[in-house]
Amino acid sequence: MSRFWSPVVHGLSPYVPGEQPAMAGLLKLNTNENPYPPSPRVLQALQQQVGEGLRLYPEPTGRALREALARREGLAPEQVFVGNGSDEVLALAFMALLNHAPRPLLLADIGYAFYPVYCGLYGVPQRVIPLREDFGLVIDDYLHGEAGAIVIANPNAPTGRALPRSEIARLLAARPDVPVLVDEAYVDFGAESAVPLVAEHPNLLVVQTLSKSRSLAGLRVGWAMGQAPLIEALVRVKDSFNSYPLDRLAQAGALAAIEDEPYFERTRLRVIASRERLSAGLQALGFEVLPSQANFVFARHAARSGAALAAALRERAILVRRFAEPARIAEFLRISIGTDAQCDSLLAALQQILETPDVVE
Ligand code: PMP
Repeated sequence: MSRFWSPVVHGLSPYVPGEQPAMAGLLKLNTNENPYPPSPRVLQALQQQVGEGLRLYPEPTGRALREALARREGLAPEQVFVGNGSDEVLALAFMALLNHAPRPLLLADIGYAFYPVYCGLYGVPQRVIPLREDFGLVIDDYLHGEAGAIVIANPNAPTGRALPRSEIARLLAARPDVPVLVDEAYVDFGAESAVPLVAEHPNLLVVQTLSKSRSLAGLRVGWAMGQAPLIEALVRVKDSFNSYPLDRLAQAGALAAIEDEPYFERTRLRVIASRERLSAGLQALGFEVLPSQANFVFARHAARSGAALAAALRERAILVRRFAEPARIAEFLRISIGTDAQCDSLLAALQQILETPDVVE
């Protein structure tokens, strides 16, 4: 704390990201990174950018990347916005589109933990809507009552559960005057994207990222898709903040990633297959595993606390994520999907932990 802080800083509750320890030999299943390397075409494109061209500023709007994304999704480049990771895109969207105080933003009680942080930063009033008992998000809960805006992660985090596109369509139709942001960070692992709804719904913004399904968490590229007036709002806020959120390397690498569809398809399907295999393995050990359409599973064991399991895994150099809040998810572990060999190491460690008599805590 310091008397030099602007007053707003005192009230912030910043997001705490999962650990990125420097220790070698760790099995890192805590931040939903992809276990496979980025496409070789990405590495080539990055190498080609390393040179005297770095003297110059990058293209400020990420034009070539936006064009490639637009082509892939059947949109116009004016319907695509790119930013420094989807976290930045979300942060800009919260300011540009989701703050209609005093009307509240509707969001789930269990969702991406950054959303309430942005609300705190911008002073967005919230109406928190609990997930149902089975951790399902029920769209009917969002159709009534005062709303300034709505944010939904689909698949949801950290549950991994997904809604079909028809449910998002039902929300958009029932709330035509309310901007709806659908965060699709994990959509490529088996959920239905809402992007085909963009053409008919001027209130829809869909956000995606290269971090998960394209193995590029380290490059920091995310994007939003929506009708041009929504994108214009994002551009206005971006240009009041940072003209060049994507550097030359990021733009070139992202473009190569989007263009290497076969590599994307191969690794995506491998992660999905490993998820199903890991879910079955966890169930065989007595875990309850929520149905996941993401690159992680959310699981709990009736006989051991989440904290004890996470600590025991850590002693065996395996990192998973656990959220102490809200209380009803405190016993769950969120486990990122690794290669089959990594999943097997995790399962072997868990089996050993469960066979060891529980120490009274
Ligand atoms: N949305 C959700 C639901 C996430 O879990 C994450 C990853 N922490 C993000 C967005 C942000 O991803 P990135 O900034 O790496 O694109």
